[in-house]
Order: sequence, then C-alpha cells, then structure tokens
Amino acid sequence: MQSNVAPRAPRLFGTNGVRGVVNTEGMDCEFAMRLGLAIGSYMKGPVMMGTDARTSNDMLRSACSAGLMAAGCDVLDCGIVPTPTLQYAVKTNKASGGVMITASHNPPEFNGIKCIDPDGTEMARSNEERIEALFHTCAFTRADWAHVGRTRPNATAVGEYIDAIVSLVDTDAIKKAKLRVAVDCSNGAASVVTPKLLERLGVRYVTLNADPNGAFPGHNSEPTPDNTKDIVELVKAGGFDFGFVHDGDADRTIFVDDRGRYMYGDRSLALVAHYACRERKDGLVVTSVGSSMCVEDAVRLAGGRVEYTMVGSPIVARAMIESGAVFGGEENGGLIFPELQYCRDGAMSGAKVLEIVAKHGRLSDLLDRIPSYSQYKTKTRCPDEKKQDVMGRLAATAKGDRVDTTDGVKIFSGKSWVLVRPSGTEPIFRVFSEAQTPDQARDIAESYKKRVEELIRG
Ligand code: MG
Repeated sequence: MQSNVAPRAPRLFGTNGVRGVVNTEGMDCEFAMRLGLAIGSYMKGPVMMGTDARTSNDMLRSACSAGLMAAGCDVLDCGIVPTPTLQYAVKTNKASGGVMITASHNPPEFNGIKCIDPDGTEMARSNEERIEALFHTCAFTRADWAHVGRTRPNATAVGEYIDAIVSLVDTDAIKKAKLRVAVDCSNGAASVVTPKLLERLGVRYVTLNADPNGAFPGHNSEPTPDNTKDIVELVKAGGFDFGFVHDGDADRTIFVDDRGRYMYGDRSLALVAHYACRERKDGLVVTSVGSSMCVEDAVRLAGGRVEYTMVGSPIVARAMIESGAVFGGEENGGLIFPELQYCRDGAMSGAKVLEIVAKHGRLSDLLDRIPSYSQYKTKTRCPDEKKQDVMGRLAATAKGDRVDTTDGVKIFSGKSWVLVRPSGTEPIFRVFSEAQTPDQARDIAESYKKRVEELIRG
C-alpha cells in the first residue's frame, strides 16, 4: 500500500544541537559547510558565532562560516566565549541568529553545532526543522558575487555580558562580604569570563584549569563528582566560602560548599529558587519533571510554586517566558535567570550564589535547611514500537496520589515518586525514583521496573 505521507527527513539536531566525533560520524568540514549554507539560507542576516575551547573549533567554525557567507550572511565572530555569552550577544546586537560551535560536556573528541534564535534562546525545534529541510533538499540561497557575506571579529561580547551580570546582582553586598572562592573552568570557555567577573565583583579567588585547552588536561568537561575531585580537595583544605565548576561551554555550574561537599544540581536549583521567590512574592519557578522534591520544598517555604515541564532546557526556558516565571532550571546545574536572559547561564549562577552567600550566610548552613532525598536510577530494555502502548497502559493502571504524564509517567505516593520515561535514542525505558531513604528509592524503582517488564511481555 502506498502512503501519501512524505517520509520524515532524518533529524540532525538533538536536544543540544548537532553532535558527533570530529571527522567521523559526519562531524567534518563538508558537513559543517553544508549546515552553514542551510543555517544561512534560513537566518538571512548577520549571524553571531562563538566556540568553546575544543581543538576542532577552528576547522568547524571556518567551514560553517564559509557556508553562512555563501548564503549571504555576515558572520560576527566572537571567538572563544561561553554559550550564554553568545546568546546574550545575539539578543543585544539584534542579530538574525547565532551559531555556537560546542559539544558542551562531551569528551574532547566530540564537537557540535548549535543554533540560537534572535531572542537569544536555544533554537526552537520548529526552526531547527526548517533548517533540516533546507539541508536535506539542498534548497540553499547562494548570494551573488556582490552580496557574499564577510566575517568581522567581535571583541565586545565578553565585556557586555560581564557588565550585564554585574548590574543584576548586589555588587556592594558581595564586595562587603570579602568572599574567597575557588573556581574550576574545566579548560573551557568559562576561562575567558569567570575570572574577570570575579574581579569585577571584588571577590578573592583561586582558579583551576582556567586556560582554554581542548585536550582537557585537567579533567573531562562534565562536572560529575569524579571530575571535580581537585576542587573538592582544594575547598576542603580550608579558607574558601565555596567552590564552583563550569562545564565546557559554561552554561552550567556545579557548586562545592564551604565544607567541601559536592552539591548536586537540584540542590543549587532549590537554593536559588528559594531566594528568587523570597525576593518576589508568589513567584513561579519552572523545572522539568526529573527534578528533586527539594526544589518544591524550598520554593513553598518561600511562598512560591513550581510548574513542571518536559525534560530539556529549551522547553523550560519557553515555559518560563509564557508563564512569567521568576526563575527556572534543571537538575544538571543549568539555571535560568529571566532578568538576564532565557537560557542556562553558568557565570550568572556563580554571581547569584555569591550574592546569596554574601546576604544570607554560609553555603553549608543554607543548604542544610533544604530537605534532602535519596534517588535511584535503573533502566530496562523495550523495543521502540512497544513504548507508546506500555506508557499508555502504565498511566491507566498506575496507583498513586497523583499521576503526571507531562513527560513519561510520573507517579507520586506520599513523599516519594517514580518517573518512567522512554529514551528518545535507545530501545530502553529509564526508571528514576526519589524517596526519603536509599532503600525506599531502590524498592520503588525496582518494583516499577518489574511492572514495566510485565507490560512489555503483554
Ligand atoms: Mg553545556
């Protein structure tokens, strides 16, 4: 039987741009130039470009820029900058869009290309689909000889971004508190912003891995407990108010408290959300369904409320715009400050926690006031074609105080929940739970894993 529905073109952009291992998996100069042509044919105007610190950045930036210029776009090259610095520059320079060459927290052999909408947000999926359609059909705009684009360097993005952050935090309070912090830039893009920002805020600081180096000699650029041992040891040795670590493109920040304790991202999310709601009564905080209950506890204590979205920072950011939220973010250390811009922002996260500590006391004391829970993660295999049916039957038969199907099936029972989500890229279901003790969390997740396996068997 013939179908009259055109087959969908293969998807290029994942949740955070196109990613792959350089010079394999298609992440090569030919691909970057063709994607640049497609992006330029869509953006039709000046494009701001930035990179993180990877070894393959010059190659991919040059190739992607060639495509953009062939389509008639001027390229405003910001060099090595954090992703949020580029996003701020796109918005304030009224560019037609932005292109960031980055693979964020991936190992050094990876790189990626990520698009920014004119308002500085991560590109909406519907716009990525337009670029994918141009890419697959080769329906490129080719400028004539007089209208081919040019590349101009932009040297103001970092300074303007730092100025904006400084203007949005209580600089006097921070200076008066005479704080001392340790910061690990992970040899990434944070190296060009965070030390300068700390100087402007009058904070004494010690840096680790603060030179851009795509070989990542310090540690890989995902701020996991394993990759942050050096800063934990440094802070434990004493004399610091806290420490913090950025991922490779500095849109995320993980904190280490004054006692040298690694803070999982939902603890910093809860802390900053609490003070955002205290400053603006009845504040709304947006986060995705996988965040810890500690976020809702901290927000309620401050008189605010929480709205949950599907997983993914662009989705959280757009929900924040629509609902007028005072703050938002996800449990991976990506915090979004609407007073600056609607995207995850690593440097602003550092500045905001400095302000909170300067005004409200030691980070360890503030954190100890936030309830803490145990989490457990497991997974089970499921053929892709069965996922939808399993999800439907799980939601229909789930017994709990509340069932939320915003993203997967999340079942609440008392002070615990379990979230069952199909993976978008692998034939598996992820089962994620949270409860008051590690045993409870494990038991809940394991029992739902069994339940899902029963449903898969039919
Ligand atoms: Mg990142």
